[in-house]
Amino acid sequence: MTGTPAARITKVVIVGGGTAGWMTAAALSRLVATGVAVTLVESEDIGTVGVGEATIPSLRDYNRMLGIDEDALVRATGATFKLGIEFRDWRRLGDSYLHPFGTHGRDIEGVSFHQLWLRQANLGGDPGPIGDYCLSAVAARKGRFTRPASNPQSVLSTLSYAFHFDAALYAKFLRGMAEEAGVVRVEGRVAAVDRDAETGFITGLRLDGDRCIDGELFIDCSGFRSLLLGDALGVPFTSWQHWLPCDRAWAVPSERQGTLTPYTRATAETAGWRWRIPLQHRVGNGHVYASDHVDDDAALRALLAGLDGKPLAEPRQLRFVAGRRERLWEKNCVAIGLSGGFLEPLESTSIHLIQSGITRLMALFPDRGFGGVEIDEYNRVMLREYAQVRDFIILHYHATERSDSTFWNHCRTMTIPDMLQAKLDLWSGKARTFREQGELFTPDGWIAVLLGQGVRPVSTDPLVAALPPEESARFMDHVRDMIGKTAEAMPTHEQFIAQHCAAT
Ligand code: FAD
Repeated sequence: MTGTPAARITKVVIVGGGTAGWMTAAALSRLVATGVAVTLVESEDIGTVGVGEATIPSLRDYNRMLGIDEDALVRATGATFKLGIEFRDWRRLGDSYLHPFGTHGRDIEGVSFHQLWLRQANLGGDPGPIGDYCLSAVAARKGRFTRPASNPQSVLSTLSYAFHFDAALYAKFLRGMAEEAGVVRVEGRVAAVDRDAETGFITGLRLDGDRCIDGELFIDCSGFRSLLLGDALGVPFTSWQHWLPCDRAWAVPSERQGTLTPYTRATAETAGWRWRIPLQHRVGNGHVYASDHVDDDAALRALLAGLDGKPLAEPRQLRFVAGRRERLWEKNCVAIGLSGGFLEPLESTSIHLIQSGITRLMALFPDRGFGGVEIDEYNRVMLREYAQVRDFIILHYHATERSDSTFWNHCRTMTIPDMLQAKLDLWSGKARTFREQGELFTPDGWIAVLLGQGVRPVSTDPLVAALPPEESARFMDHVRDMIGKTAEAMPTHEQFIAQHCAAT
């Protein structure tokens, strides 16, 4: 055991009321009934980042854990459904592919479906895009949506989805739940942090005015400021900017125009990329860029030129550095959200990393004192997950044919992390890809991006030779046909929302 206290932990203090703070408070609110006081301090004057609008399917697990009625959530946050992300101009200008949620085809006799697809392509057949064999991708392109079927025999069970929503409204929704369950919200600005002279543990927060809040476990959800983990405890930040050079973003909402696409769009620019996220009542837009390669005015012009509808507010600029703290749990403080690290929203992973931090904290929740084993385990799995997500994002930049700017030349030719290089080596030989324990992205996700970015392996798995090519071609035709017909029979995204969960 390290440090104090030995008594049961009964006071948890969360600093910050952004998405991270309220997600943490809502999840920890169940502790209130066991005699643990949960307090959240936030400052309306400081405000939140509040840009996180695109999510990934894992968020549904968090919502389920809290017993959230999904239709009520969609209504309250003006949400739409998301079947994947369309990447435009990433491999080369004019190119487009989807990273869909859900699976491609069906594995047969232990052979992964993409192996069949690759063999057919290598034999000179024309299997079409791999996305034609994924229901989420086909439905996304057709603008259709329904929820997955629970029967594993149904092709509809291969669908998976997430949400686009207004993150500020999501935090408000969770705040209502947390407060109802007994979480106490304190409005105020943290001006100083008190620490035990001997152990260095945080003992309390001093707010503007004379108020003090003491506690035993402190959760730092203070955003980029990292008030507790970074400032007070001095845990250093590791920058990954040499791999992910984008360090600024412009964000602006615009009027909703045309149909509601059930996917996020990420369009590559000369030194970064633009996002387009449709909500029921507006569209969220942004341009993430590398300030070493493009100036702020040019980045803003590119964003505004790409809008479908009129802007609804003044564009807002955000600054960041890709990376994370060396440890995310230090002494009696756990950093969740931007206070712990930041990875650009290309694969919409920040809210997932918040969720991951919360579920792991709950699994390792300290009872009496702070065990070194639990802290080490938390840091090990969280840091590993940050690195895995980082690598997946780097793949999009590195595996490109673009050579039209200094930015793309840098990304294409840079040395990549060893972990990613090992994955690429495995893929480049016989198209193999494995999901490590606890890894967020599935082989289907890697396959979609690897093939979408044009990374073609030299051969296929030898096991594929056991399946006669004509037979597997017939099987593939059947799969494609069934997926096309199933997608066609689904309601449009608009129809589904109007029927189940239109915002009032
Ligand atoms: P913040 O929202 O910054 O909240 C910090 C809180 O701390 C605030 O309540 C503030 O008042 C409080 N605070 C700070 N200092 C003090 C103090 N001294 N005293 C009291 N309170 C204090 N994520 C996704 O998953 N999907 C996306 O599409 C996505 N897009 C993004 C686009 C951009 C450009 C950026 C920058 C981020 C994006 N994110 C996205 C990330 C997402 O916005 C964040 O992960 C999420 O909002 C969580 O932020 P947070 O709660 O950690 O911090």
